[in-house]
Amino acid sequence: LASLEVSPRPTVLRFPTGATGGGEVMVAAGPCGVESLEQTLTAARYVKQHGAQMLRGGAFKPRTSPYSFQGLGEAGLEILAQARQATGLPVVTEVVSPEQVDLVAAYADVLQIGARNAQNFALLQAAGQSGRPVLLKRGMSMTLEEFLMSAEYVLAQGNMRVILVERGIRTFERSTRFTLDVSAVPVLKSLTHLPVWIDPSHAAGKRDWVTALALAGLAAGADGLIVETHPEPEKAQSDAAQQLNEAQFTEMMSRIKALLPAL
Ligand code: PEP
Ligand code: MN
Repeated sequence: LASLEVSPRPTVLRFPTGATGGGEVMVAAGPCGVESLEQTLTAARYVKQHGAQMLRGGAFKPRTSPYSFQGLGEAGLEILAQARQATGLPVVTEVVSPEQVDLVAAYADVLQIGARNAQNFALLQAAGQSGRPVLLKRGMSMTLEEFLMSAEYVLAQGNMRVILVERGIRTFERSTRFTLDVSAVPVLKSLTHLPVWIDPSHAAGKRDWVTALALAGLAAGADGLIVETHPEPEKAQSDAAQQLNEAQFTEMMSRIKALLPAL
C-alpha cells in the first residue's frame, strides 16, 4: 500500500495550519519532552511566531536508562492540549505502547512512533486503528525496505495518513549522535507516495549542527521537518545537547524560508 506503483499520486496530509506532501512542506517543532506548562507554552508560542505549523513534545519518553526522566505521562498530554488551545498548533506526541494508544490519541493530532519502537508491530497496528495520522521514525538500524514494511503495518489497518521520518542511523562515525541518511529522502520518494520528513536533531545530537542537516534534508526534497527546541536547552531533562535555543530556531527558520519562499 505504501508503493508508488499502487498509488502513483503523492499522499498529502492536511492540517488547519498547513499541509505536507505533494510539494507542500511543514515544520513541527518544540521540546524533546514536555516538562512544564510554562516551558511548553513558551516554546509553542515562539515556534508558531517563527513559522512552525505543528508543535512537538513528548509526554511518554522512551529513555535508554530506566532511571532517566520518563516524561510527565497524561499530565504532559494535558499540557500539550493547553498549548494547542493557546496557539492553534496541532500536536504530535509519542506513544510507546499499544495499551496507551487510545489515551494518547484522545489528546494528540498526530501519533509519533519512535525509532526504538519502529518494529513494534502491535504498536504499529494499534496506531493504525486509532484514526490519527502517524509520524513514524526510522529505526536506527533499519533498512529502507524494513522501514516501508513498518509503515505497511499502519496502512494495512486502513490508515493511509503516515509520515516517514529519517532521524539518523547507526554507522561507524561517532562525531554525530547518528548519521543522517539524506539519501533516504530521494530513495523513499522513488518508492512511496507517503510524505518523507527529516529529524535533524536526533541525527546531529548537537544543536550547532542541526540547521545544516535541516537545510540538507529540505534541499534533498523532504516534505517536512521535526526539530527539537527548548526555551532553556541547557536545563532540559532529555536531549539537552541537541535542542535549539530560541535564537538558533529563529535563525534556522529564516534560512529555511530563504530556501523555500513558499513556506
Ligand atoms: C524524540 O523524538 O524525542 C525521540 C525519542 O526520537 P527518536 O525516536 O527518533 O529517537
Ligand atoms: Mn528527543
